[in-house]
Amino acid sequence: MNADDLRRRADDALSELTSLREHDAPTHGGHILSYVYDSGLEILDSVAADAARLVQPVNGLDPTVFGSVAAMERDLISFGRTVFHGPEAVGSVTSGGTESCLLAVKAARDHAGAQPGTGSIVLPSTAHAAFLKAAELFGLRVIRVPVDPGTTAVDPAAVASAIADDTVLVVVSAPNYPTGTLDPVADVAEITAARGVALHVDACLGGFALAWWDGPDRQDQLPPWDFRVPGVTSLSADLHKYGYAPKGASLLLHADRDRHRAQYFAVTDWPGYPVVNPTLLGSRSAAGLAAAWAITRTLGESGFAELVSQIRVASERLLATVDAIDGLRVVGDPVGPVFAVAADESAADPLDPHVWGAQVGTHGFTVQAQPAFPQADGTVLPATTHLTITPVTARVVEELSAAMCAAAEEVRGTPAAQPPAALTELAAAFDSGSVTVGQALSLPSEAAGAALVAAGLDPHAPIADGGLDMPSIIAAVHALPRPVTAKLLAEFLAAYCNP
Ligand SMILES: *Cc1c(COP(=O)(O)O)cnc(C)c1O
Repeated sequence: MNADDLRRRADDALSELTSLREHDAPTHGGHILSYVYDSGLEILDSVAADAARLVQPVNGLDPTVFGSVAAMERDLISFGRTVFHGPEAVGSVTSGGTESCLLAVKAARDHAGAQPGTGSIVLPSTAHAAFLKAAELFGLRVIRVPVDPGTTAVDPAAVASAIADDTVLVVVSAPNYPTGTLDPVADVAEITAARGVALHVDACLGGFALAWWDGPDRQDQLPPWDFRVPGVTSLSADLHKYGYAPKGASLLLHADRDRHRAQYFAVTDWPGYPVVNPTLLGSRSAAGLAAAWAITRTLGESGFAELVSQIRVASERLLATVDAIDGLRVVGDPVGPVFAVAADESAADPLDPHVWGAQVGTHGFTVQAQPAFPQADGTVLPATTHLTITPVTARVVEELSAAMCAAAEEVRGTPAAQPPAALTELAAAFDSGSVTVGQALSLPSEAAGAALVAAGLDPHAPIADGGLDMPSIIAAVHALPRPVTAKLLAEFLAAYCNP
């Protein structure tokens, strides 16, 4: 290996990556209203990159060898204690929201001492899918509680009747992802505390925004939703969402030490080093931790508060924009930085939120289509379009508001998106009983791939700028059995990311 050759190849790799990155969705500037959380402050990007580089060679596996890892983790947990009002809380920095949710469930299961084959978790319909993943991975039964389709908040009485003898954890959201609604944490906590069941507040999405939502000028204060509420046993908040860190950092806090200890996997019973893991991974990067730590240090509480006030101004402007559009409505009563838009069925001329969302896309703003959701009690949460508001949204809020209004007029009278024709035929085959869900789920990859290609979703064809045609994919989710669409989408993504 010749040093010049290596340098040249390294430069080539970086220039290739630079050109690949040019085709990605724009991560900055407020034009994509999901996935990314742009503070609008360049200094946060640079301090995060510098901090990540400083710990690049470190292995987060062993904080006793790499003391910087322990020091930064302690600091972030202290910060979490302050902002989430849990002076005694303890916990861990994880790699992201999903890992925090998984570990909250694992800790609750082990703390409760659930025996193999038993144990359940109670989830409102609007709880994040990461908890379904946790139940699957950790062998727990899911008890799903319908939410009020009007408010989209969970009804505490429904939670009370859903809790089973083997329930190890109840989850509430602050706020939930689909509609941005804050669940009634205190009312649910009263029930779980009386029953001796753990309660997790999933503040992955909005925790680091809600903590400063009640500005000094705010009249309608949020009800308490964090460790101020007795009975809350754990709380997750993503540093890589409204903590503005690059992906790879979330905070999971527990109200007491024994619950935190139940999160650990520790084993000395093998011929290697003692394995003592608070998180799912063994060897792990400290980059997310360091980046989040540096950003939090840079912003301080006052910096967070100022960014949240920008989010609030933009959110209020956009909520008012939707209210003024005939045929659309805001779902429920979102309090934080995200909200969902549905058809206003009481209007003479309701607009399809996905057709509208796709049209907003033609004005340069990418919004996220979400499917309708039939709940266990027969009520249906409507199809919606999701918007995540970040500090930088404030800079483009007038342009976005105008795009939302213009898009509504442009699509007035346009019918809802349809699934690709081949999938409509497949849906008819399920309806007539000529194909069963079991048969579809046992299709080998090759046949599932062929079904995708027939539906015009060829994983090896280039994807148009702006991504997949999500309205038609969501229409397929509506038309087909949900497990079948999940299988087809897994097939698509697996093939897409493989040679
Ligand atoms: C994003 C999110 C999660 C999962 O987080 P990831 O960081 O995407 O793994 C969990 N709960 C809520 C409410 C979220 O918004």
